[in-house]
Amino acid sequence: MSDLLARLREQGWRLTAQRRVVAEVLDGEHVHLTADEVHARAVGLLPEISRATVYNTLGELVSLGEVLEVSTDGRAKRYDPNAHHSHQHLICSSCGTIRDVHPSGDPLAALPAAERFGFAVSGAEITYRGLCPDCRAH
Ligand SMILES: [Zn+2]
Ligand SMILES: [Zn+2]
Repeated sequence: MSDLLARLREQGWRLTAQRRVVAEVLDGEHVHLTADEVHARAVGLLPEISRATVYNTLGELVSLGEVLEVSTDGRAKRYDPNAHHSHQHLICSSCGTIRDVHPSGDPLAALPAAERFGFAVSGAEITYRGLCPDCRAH
């Protein structure tokens, strides 16, 4: 059983065939799929699954905190099952490929007190950009 499926089972999430397929599609390392990509892959496993079911299931997984929504400039939102290990993203500015990266140091600690404006700061999202090896080769 996959990591995401195991986590959902522990949470007592009712695993219908549709939900299981969405969770299976999302499982793995460096997975950052758009809702349409999740739907296309889910259909490969369960042909009758509807787009609405996939969208609703993704929304539930995000509410549960088991899947992260990643917004990248102007592109469709992506869904990331790596919700429990703090990480940042490295994005190819040409093809949109995303890798999970773990910069050294704590990005929260990097924000000086004088620039917190009284906020209780709880998170940071850092996006590194560049060209991936495939795009560099062209
Ligand atoms: Zn690329
Ligand atoms: Zn990620």
